[in-house]
Amino acid sequence: MAHKITLIPGDGIGPEVTFAAKRCIEATGVKIEWEEVVAGQEAEERFGELLPKSTIESIRRNKIALKGPIITPVAGGFRSVNVALRQILDLYACLRPAKYYPGVKSRFKDVDLVVVRENTEDLYAGIEFAVNEKETREVIDTIKNLINKNIPYDSAISLKPISITGSERIIRFAFEYALKNKRKKVTVVHKANIMKFTDGLFLRIARRISEEYIGRVVFEERIVDNMAMQLVQKPRDYDVLVLPNLYGDIISDLCAGLIGGLGVAPGANIGDDVAVFEAVHGAAPKYKGKNKVNPTAMILSGVMMLRYMNEFSAAEKLENALISVLSEGRYVTYDLKPTKDDPSAVGTQEMAEAIIKKLSSI
Ligand code: NAD
Repeated sequence: MAHKITLIPGDGIGPEVTFAAKRCIEATGVKIEWEEVVAGQEAEERFGELLPKSTIESIRRNKIALKGPIITPVAGGFRSVNVALRQILDLYACLRPAKYYPGVKSRFKDVDLVVVRENTEDLYAGIEFAVNEKETREVIDTIKNLINKNIPYDSAISLKPISITGSERIIRFAFEYALKNKRKKVTVVHKANIMKFTDGLFLRIARRISEEYIGRVVFEERIVDNMAMQLVQKPRDYDVLVLPNLYGDIISDLCAGLIGGLGVAPGANIGDDVAVFEAVHGAAPKYKGKNKVNPTAMILSGVMMLRYMNEFSAAEKLENALISVLSEGRYVTYDLKPTKDDPSAVGTQEMAEAIIKKLSSI
């Protein structure tokens, strides 16, 4: 029976990279019935809303989606369509592997780590108070009354909620992921020395849950600023990292930089029974419609999706075909060539075609 999957092409370079990934996934032979829906600019033009109910319903019904990047207009109702989607569907775990592939220009050759980022809480909760508003003044007065701390009246305020429930489920997810994928170590990343209540809670829960995995998964702790330095100096020492939302966002881009940049960094947003697969990169509007950008990140997101669907042999075949094209370095996009203006660079779709050709010979 065919798998039914929601496809959201997205904005900017989204349609190009999702089309390339879709073709590569289909070439593995896995039977998929795609349900194409819209979100972002196209949705706004067609339905007058950035995130139509029908799009959410399609993902809820099919339980799996492959999604291109989405632009959030600065004046829109949402802080971000992407953040809203993760919160509405409770996709609490953001999984971002950073793995080096031969042929990719990179400072490090043997990085293979996975960032597990909490996706729904922290400073991303969207609880903010703008400068000089009546409510902001009330919050400032309440804080003064409750804990005798002075916040200047000309301040804006963002809240950072971190819950026991949210922390427990993401930390357990990281340990279970490590076990299932034969990973050896989980590092919890925090700033509990300063944020004693929020990050302190996250850290205490990580310590407690780690005890259930003694002898099976090694556990260690790092303060986030030290973590950033250690990753740049010796990324090979790390395996699975688990972080609250904001640190997870920043550290996962840093990790993408370690293995060759955004063009090769895949991702997944996973909840208890729904998952949305998407590249780490955004819509790169200046490249829209130019058939120029690298489809690797989106194809690798497709590989993660195939594994999630238990289509392990198709996932391996596609990853190997991609590795083969990357390591040969011939039919690759401009960003994978020695210089950005290399005339031998191919377009997004031509790189996908080279991968499809390899698939038929594996
Ligand atoms: P971006 O990732 O879109 O682009 C930054 C730069 O990275 C590009 O100019 C390009 O040089 C490079 N790049 C990105 N993808 C590439 C690829 N596949 N191949 C080769 N090079 C690539 O980041 P941005 O410019 O900060 O964001 C643009 C828009 O995308 C914004 O509106 C932002 O909100 C949105 N965005 C969406 C998502 C998402 O949907 N998950 C994520 C990040 C940003």
